[in-house]
Amino acid sequence: MKLDLALLHAPSVYDFRKKDDVLFAYLANSDSVHVSGIFEMPPVGLLAIHQYLESKGKKVEFYNIASHMLRYSEFDVEKFLFELEADFIGIDLHWLAHTQGVLELAKICKSYHKDSKIFIGGISASQLHLDAITYPQIDYVVRGADTLEYVEMLLNAENDPDRLKQVPNLTWKYQGEVIANDLEYPNKPYSAVIDWGKIFGNGNENITPYNIVIPQYGCEYNCNWCGGSQYSNQKEFGLSKVVEKTPQMLQQELTTLINSDTKKHTVTMINYWHEHDGLLDAVDEAFRNDKIERIHISIRKLPEVERIMKLSWSKKIIIELSPDSEQMELCKMCGHAHYTMEEMEDFIDNVLEAVYSFEIYFMIGIPNQTRESIQKTMNYCVHLLDKYRGKRVMPYICPMLPFLDMNSVFFDHSKRFGYKVYHKTLKDYCNALLSMNWKNRLNYETNCLSRSDLVDITYEIIREFTKKKAEYQILPKGICDGIVKLIDETVALLEEIDLYENMTESYEKECKGNKVRSAIFEYNQRAFKSVKSQQRPMDFGFARSQWFDTDEAFKRFEDERRGENIC
Ligand code: SF4
Repeated sequence: MKLDLALLHAPSVYDFRKKDDVLFAYLANSDSVHVSGIFEMPPVGLLAIHQYLESKGKKVEFYNIASHMLRYSEFDVEKFLFELEADFIGIDLHWLAHTQGVLELAKICKSYHKDSKIFIGGISASQLHLDAITYPQIDYVVRGADTLEYVEMLLNAENDPDRLKQVPNLTWKYQGEVIANDLEYPNKPYSAVIDWGKIFGNGNENITPYNIVIPQYGCEYNCNWCGGSQYSNQKEFGLSKVVEKTPQMLQQELTTLINSDTKKHTVTMINYWHEHDGLLDAVDEAFRNDKIERIHISIRKLPEVERIMKLSWSKKIIIELSPDSEQMELCKMCGHAHYTMEEMEDFIDNVLEAVYSFEIYFMIGIPNQTRESIQKTMNYCVHLLDKYRGKRVMPYICPMLPFLDMNSVFFDHSKRFGYKVYHKTLKDYCNALLSMNWKNRLNYETNCLSRSDLVDITYEIIREFTKKKAEYQILPKGICDGIVKLIDETVALLEEIDLYENMTESYEKECKGNKVRSAIFEYNQRAFKSVKSQQRPMDFGFARSQWFDTDEAFKRFEDERRGENIC
């Protein structure tokens, strides 16, 4: 059956499984999110586009190529793409970390299916649309947020130039000319309501009961390093305020989760919906249901204690705080000195009994931040371990990776804030993602720390902090020893890579290169077997099926191929 649209999620690097010249090093991806260096988790909006278009009668499938490659070593991507039949192929380029994978997948698709139209979308695609459209494998870029209707209009336009002109937010090319249609934002609530029953249904009890619900689009805050800030949304999409789902829409989405086949869900609800009374009231009934076991929320400003009590009356609530630094001058630099550490600790003390756990994030990569100030941050984290021993208050120190967000305040005013920015175009990002040593992948360095320093200090600090976690019995000693061993092995391999890359061309360099590549390949193969992050140093079942794995879609594809062959 030919599809109207095949949606694909690309790995960060294609074909990562064969790579012996890119080290997918521990801590080299965004360690504040539990994904592998392949970034197999797609933006949730992809599910929304899929479900919306199906409701409009379109034949659509979503294939998560990244996670399928990661989970099934025998999966033949090129055979799959060759056999795939679709009028349109849509690939998300939401995060720059996917640049190389997206452009490569698109190239392969185009080489097999000259008549299929390929489009990309997402934040990074929107930001770099004029660059992306120059690639022969990209026919269209759908810019903006909440693009369900625009994608539908694109499909309905059937590549007719007169109708393409009418599709808001579309960048396209016609007779050698690039055309960027006007940008619009739909004048309505945030429409990406997911039916989670379609993901957690069909008796699929093996799927990890963990998912993400997005109650609002945009952000009312301005963290200077963030490409999803008010500043960035205003600049990129003309979005001056947050766009929320209505309380009914949010209720409807949570109800689909409650009516699904799995139990004991952990729901991560991103952004700051709980600051809005209507949305806070809307979740009340759903959160009382036994199907939802844990709720993970982010807090930017410390809320009143009553608000937290309201959320946590019967649930295990996980609160994520991101002060970035305990040093107020660095917090101010980041644009969000909303509370002091004393105030934060008072808040934690007040709600500790009602809260299941706290995750507190500190960052490496802030301008004016030196080795000494990072060491001070670690000392403060040790203080937290000590004070809250046995009470599920867990600080994390994460490097800002892999990139400083384009369109963030820091990126746009890099010199003023003390950053040197390295990559700007899609080609730059492709090359960066193919770096053997991840220090060359970084798109920034600060006035105090070079890219090499950022890598070195990341390993030094996490190593030391891991040992402290063992000392304070936060993690079992065996796990901490395993992490320290992995860090030591990674650092040693990065040193070998540096030695090799700094050698002059010679027979010795060739021999060294063979050794290094074979060590990288072996390291990567081990790394792909499980997802490890600071939050979940063991895989804890996340390697099972997750909300973004698309085994059923691939199975339907295989069944159909088999049926065609029998006929
Ligand atoms: S990091 Fe800051 S600016 Fe970005 S979404 Fe969170 S609160 Fe908003």
